[in-house]
Amino acid sequence: MQDARNFYINGQWVKPQAGTDFPVIDPSNEEAFATISLGGEADTNAAVAAAKAAFPKWRKSTKAERLELMESILSVYTKRADEMGEVISREMGAPVSMAKTQQSGTGSFHIQAFIDALKGFEFERELRADTPNDRILYEPIGVCGLITPWNWPMNQIALKVIPALATGCTSVLKPSEQSPLSAVLFSEIMHEAGTPAGIYNMLNGDGPGVGSQLSAHEDIEMISFTGSTRAGRLITKSGAETVKRVTLELGGKGANLVFADADEKAVKQGIIRCFNNTGQSCNAPTRMLVERSRYDEAVEQAKEAAEATSVNSASEEGRHIGPLVSEMQFEKVQDLIQVGIDEGARLVAGGVGRPEGLNRGFYVRPTVFADCHNNMRIMREEVFGPVLSMMPFDSEEEAIAIANDTEYGLTNYIQTTDPERARRVARELRSGMVDINGQGRSAGAPFGGMKQSGNGREGGIWGLEDFLEVRAIGGWPSEA
Ligand code: NAD
Repeated sequence: MQDARNFYINGQWVKPQAGTDFPVIDPSNEEAFATISLGGEADTNAAVAAAKAAFPKWRKSTKAERLELMESILSVYTKRADEMGEVISREMGAPVSMAKTQQSGTGSFHIQAFIDALKGFEFERELRADTPNDRILYEPIGVCGLITPWNWPMNQIALKVIPALATGCTSVLKPSEQSPLSAVLFSEIMHEAGTPAGIYNMLNGDGPGVGSQLSAHEDIEMISFTGSTRAGRLITKSGAETVKRVTLELGGKGANLVFADADEKAVKQGIIRCFNNTGQSCNAPTRMLVERSRYDEAVEQAKEAAEATSVNSASEEGRHIGPLVSEMQFEKVQDLIQVGIDEGARLVAGGVGRPEGLNRGFYVRPTVFADCHNNMRIMREEVFGPVLSMMPFDSEEEAIAIANDTEYGLTNYIQTTDPERARRVARELRSGMVDINGQGRSAGAPFGGMKQSGNGREGGIWGLEDFLEVRAIGGWPSEA
């Protein structure tokens, strides 16, 4: 049993002062393989105090010093990237081949993108060419609490820790208690890279404990949160007492609009995208809307693609999908599949229960529902498992209306070979991001949602700006 109880505070690994033991379960076999500690108030206070003490000096660090540190973090991260993939795979169940490429790869991808964004970022600017005595200063906001989920652990950690230090902020990271070991390894990387003491701190804990203590803490200026809309609401309320900046990256219920003229692989690719990471992605295209003339064929293709999706242990190499992260998620997904059946959606693949031959582990059958309507719970709620819901549409206007009829607004998807239509529909979809014909967004593009999907924008220059205060100075003496 691995002992991962210690916290990384003020540049050292320290024993918890008020911790409670918590097992880390391998979702592929339901066995505990490591023990972490869920911190208490004394631990939270120690981490925040370290970040607060480090802020005055780090705030004044130069861009060159920060870039040098980021390059060093990238180099150590790259060296340990495979190890990171293995750790993520074991703790949250992403199949190891996928975890070593996609999951682990997000870390280096974002670190590099922030290095590029920081190089071009001007922290002091003129207001306009005709206002020589106005100055706009971008200042680090201060001590930041960073709270992350388990589904893409390194993606979220890199999207918060790196811009915080790049802008001169100091931080306390609380990773998900379901994926704590990747954060422990990340902290080792930060240490090995020579991060000055106190600039970055990490302690494990749960939402009601360390999570709530951070969001209410009077010495924290900002909370950057990624996770469920439920927790995002609680954090916003708790942060309001001290008027914190709270940036939120929350859930999604992405629509994938498949028009009759779409590429013939569009449906299959939509399924692969929906089931990637075992359906545990906030931006998964989980509602597939298909133009009626192509609908029956699409349902058949989705059924075939779901039935061809194999499910297996995360430790096996290969392109299968793994288990869900936890028993709680397994039960939730099972319940929602049953809800879909009870609400009258047509089950065309999968269903309740485990896939054949997998009796232990949080495995779910790749599932497709057809003939859904947009009031069904499986069309409105995040299922967070390999479950696709399909429905037909008759016109472009109707497709847009269905896609936008959701409380979420994270990512929507368009499949069409008509460029005019692609541009027109992209403009109308109420989501922070839109992907056309399977093309993802480039490094440095902002990631974030509208409506109840949140308010932050992570990545690139927008990800830096989230951690900055904008100050306006009048009467700035002109420089000779
Ligand atoms: P979760 O909200 O249960 O937990 C996320 C984090 O918040 C964990 O670290 C947890 O300990 C902490 N937390 C929980 N309650 C808290 C509270 N009251 N106060 C402070 N912290 C609290 O979410 P999860 O199950 O870990 O992650 C899945 C969710 O994350 C999904 O809804 C998914 O859509 C969302 N997500 C969003 C994005 C995005 O960028 N929009 C990315 C990935 C995941």
